[in-house]
This record gives sequence, structure tokens and C-alpha cells, in this order.
Amino acid sequence: MEMATNRAFIFLGPPGAGKGTQSKRFARRCAVPHFSTGDMLRDAVSRGTELGRLARPIMERGELVPDDVIMKMVEERLAEPDCAGGVVFDGFPRTLPQAEQLGRVLESKGFGKPVVVDFEVSLDVLMRRLTGRWSCSVCGAIYNAYDAPPKVRGTCDHDGGKLVQRPDDRPDVVKERLVAYERQTMPLADYYRRQGLLDAVDASAGMEDVSRALEAIIKRIEGRDGRL
Ligand code: AMP
Repeated sequence: MEMATNRAFIFLGPPGAGKGTQSKRFARRCAVPHFSTGDMLRDAVSRGTELGRLARPIMERGELVPDDVIMKMVEERLAEPDCAGGVVFDGFPRTLPQAEQLGRVLESKGFGKPVVVDFEVSLDVLMRRLTGRWSCSVCGAIYNAYDAPPKVRGTCDHDGGKLVQRPDDRPDVVKERLVAYERQTMPLADYYRRQGLLDAVDASAGMEDVSRALEAIIKRIEGRDGRL
């Protein structure tokens, strides 16, 4: 089912909560772009652009790229015509200044208030998901060595592409990324809760359960605000 929307969806939650998988699905369902700042940065790194050269060492340490750099990248992408009908943000915003600036940008574009979904999940589930995560080097499909393995080890089920592990999914870097999340991103849940914009899903559940929980949130918002 497709929805008409000029609304931004923000998927909030620690690395490994399943935001990537769910936000890609969700964006397809709503027929709006999947807007992942992490994917954009990885693309810049692999192309060796100025942005990529700046971001690479920061990402390798598991730290956050500076707000002004992120906001410039986000605003440029948001100005493209395919974003006019709405977007699903994945991994953005990550800090309070990013969230505040995003609020101003969305307002100036005539977007409704964002729908924010917090992915709640425990630390041990996160470690297992992150250190077991592999993705297709061709189509980006995500697998988990423990919970959702491919049919053939190291090979994508969809297109036979080689599966690769992100350099920042090594256990020591994962730890740093979780620290950055706790210090810089966790306060956003309160920020959006105070504005009455926060919904939550139990992200420890399986993929289909989380999808159903997201669907229920949409139905409730549609019931309140009309068709999105
Ligand atoms: P992700 O794929 O969302 O986990 O992002 C991978 C890495 O990219 C993060 O660990 C950060 O170094 C960087 N990054 C992605 N999105 C942001 C953001 N919104 N703000 C700052 N850094 C980011």
C-alpha cells in the first residue's frame, strides 16, 4: 500500500537496533526516499571525495561527524525533488543541534511535524546484531550471521553479490559507537517526547514483529491526522 505524505519519519535508536532494515522497507512502503546519512558518508568515503576524506577517520573511530558537515550534506540532499513528498531518515538526527536545525528546515519546506520512532533494545542484543552483521556489496541487503544468515555463506541470496562486514562493526569500534549513541543521541528521545512526537517499538523482537509494530503506529497516526 502506498501513502501520499510530505512527512519526515525519523527512526531513532542505537546502532544495531534494526533501523537500517526497517527504514528501507518502510521507505519502499511509503514510496519515499530512504535517507541514511551513514550510507551517504560511506558512499563519499568509497568515492574518495573531500567529504569522504574528512569523514573516514572519524567513522573508523566510531565517533560522530561534526554537525555542520552533516547538516550541509542533509540540506543539499533534501533540496532534491524526490524528497519533496517525504523521507525516511535513518541514523539522522544524531545530536540535539542536528535535531533543532532539522526542525527549522522541515518547517521551512512546509513539512508536517516529523513522526519519530524510538527503537528500544538491550545492549547484549545490540552486540550480537552488530558483530554478526554482513551486507551485500552489490544491493546492500543486510544479513546476520547468527539470526538471519544467507543461504550460501558469504553470498547474497538476491544477486549473488559478495557479503562484506563494515569496518566499524568490529567489537572495539562498536563499543565506541554505543558510547557516542548514549552521550549524544539518547537525549533526542526526551527532546521528541517532550514535543509529543515520540513513539517506540520493541526492537529486540523479530523483523516481522517490528514491521507490524511500525504499521500499527502509522495506522494510529492516520486515524488521528487523516491519511498521511
Ligand atoms: P550509521 O550507518 O548510521 O551507523 O553511521 C555510520 C557512521 O557514520 C557513524 O558511526 C558516524 O561516524 C557517521 N554518521 C552517520 N550519521 C551521522 C550523523 N547524523 N551525525 C554524525 N555522524 C554520523
